[in-house]
Amino acid sequence: MTTKVATLDDLIDDFVESYPPSSTDPVVFLGEQFDRGLAWVHFPVGNGGLGLSPADQVHALSRLATLHAPTAVMRNVIGYGMVAPTLVTHGTEEQKARFLRPLFTGEEIWCQLFSEPGSGSDVASLSTRAERDGDEWLLNGQKVWTTLAHIAAFGLIIARSNPDVPKHKGITAFLVDMHAPGVEVLPLYQVTGEAEFNECFFTDVRVPDSRRLGDVGEGWGVSITTLMNERVSIGGTVPPRSSGLIGEALKIWQQRWASRTDAHAIAVRSELMAAWVRNEVGRLTNWRASDLRRAGTPGPEGSVAKLAFAEENQRTSELCVNLLGSEGMLYGSTYPQIRPSESAMTGGDMRKAFLRMRANSIEGGTSEVMRNILGERVLGLAGEPRNDKDVAWKDVPRS
Ligand SMILES: Cc1cc2nc3c(=O)[nH]c(=O)nc-3n(C[C@H](O)[C@H](O)[C@H](O)COP(=O)(O)OP(=O)(O)OC[C@H]3O[C@@H](n4cnc5c(N)ncnc54)[C@H](O)[C@@H]3O)c2cc1C
Repeated sequence: MTTKVATLDDLIDDFVESYPPSSTDPVVFLGEQFDRGLAWVHFPVGNGGLGLSPADQVHALSRLATLHAPTAVMRNVIGYGMVAPTLVTHGTEEQKARFLRPLFTGEEIWCQLFSEPGSGSDVASLSTRAERDGDEWLLNGQKVWTTLAHIAAFGLIIARSNPDVPKHKGITAFLVDMHAPGVEVLPLYQVTGEAEFNECFFTDVRVPDSRRLGDVGEGWGVSITTLMNERVSIGGTVPPRSSGLIGEALKIWQQRWASRTDAHAIAVRSELMAAWVRNEVGRLTNWRASDLRRAGTPGPEGSVAKLAFAEENQRTSELCVNLLGSEGMLYGSTYPQIRPSESAMTGGDMRKAFLRMRANSIEGGTSEVMRNILGERVLGLAGEPRNDKDVAWKDVPRS
């Protein structure tokens, strides 16, 4: 007698047959997807996964996308792309059991509290303090540019637990309740007119030791997992061919330019085709990288993809606005509509996308920093001088 082994496709078929994506409540659908191990198939069994490869995850995502299945990534972009892999890598069994499922269903939104007014690219120099007080920790300090903190239930925060050792060694990570006493969240408005991000103030915020993520003083390793996943999450996805911004550019060209045969239109078509080829090369490169990637912390290829994505997004959104002609300038009603945003993803109006994409070369690490990583880790070039590497954090001069 032979036993039939269910393939990933069989499992997806069975799932969508029992829970039709178009008629099932999104939270029920996503909860069931998690329980069947189809949330992140490359995560371990019991954590929303099946212990398969990152390439299988790309396959599962694209199959569900073609069925227009509900997804929490749009609303819980930080939780889904960054916090979840960090929890799986560094979390205790209790933490994984408590947090992963409601994160995936979008019932609990997450934010990432790394950047500070004086510590962005050099985030390891951060000043927010974490002091032990019995079974708890007291957090004091300020974070900034915190995406979706205004709707977040929890945040992944890194703080300085030991100022007497060099900067990378005295950091500890925590899972902080964003509604705890002492947490204050204030919106920061962007050029789009929306506030996706915030400044966050922490005044004597108590965090139980059971919400510490990783060992005391090991927060830098935790944050590397988050940052490398952030870069893959921003730049390393494999969307369907001709979708996203380049799909929008094609649509605008079809509507406004395709019937024209004058020299200007032909030149515009060449520009569009060059952009299509660049987007397709990026997509196929990410596909190949996802095939080679092993489960765990992604390598520097995520930084390369993030750099390429940022530059291409800015060029393609600029092309969209140019294709719109004078209408491209009419994103004018922004400031009267100024409001906190419910998501950190841009869709729809290409004039808004053009403005939003300016941030792509800053968020998740700037393009200059990505080039440093590419130079040092991929090309093996000499590293930057790092004078504070072996000096206790408290002895490093700062303003
Ligand atoms: C839309 C958006 C969303 C964000 N969301 C979050 C979030 O949710 N959580 C969070 O923690 N942070 C978030 N950030 C913050 C982001 O990570 C930082 O802005 C980024 O790391 C840069 O830090 P900075 O702004 O302090 O700039 P700085 O580090 O002060 O850099 C200023 C300039 O100097 C350059 N520079 C700095 N160091 C070097 C170097 N070594 N070599 C060459 N050039 C260098 C930079 O490239 C940049 O041009 C977000 C930012 C944006 C724009």
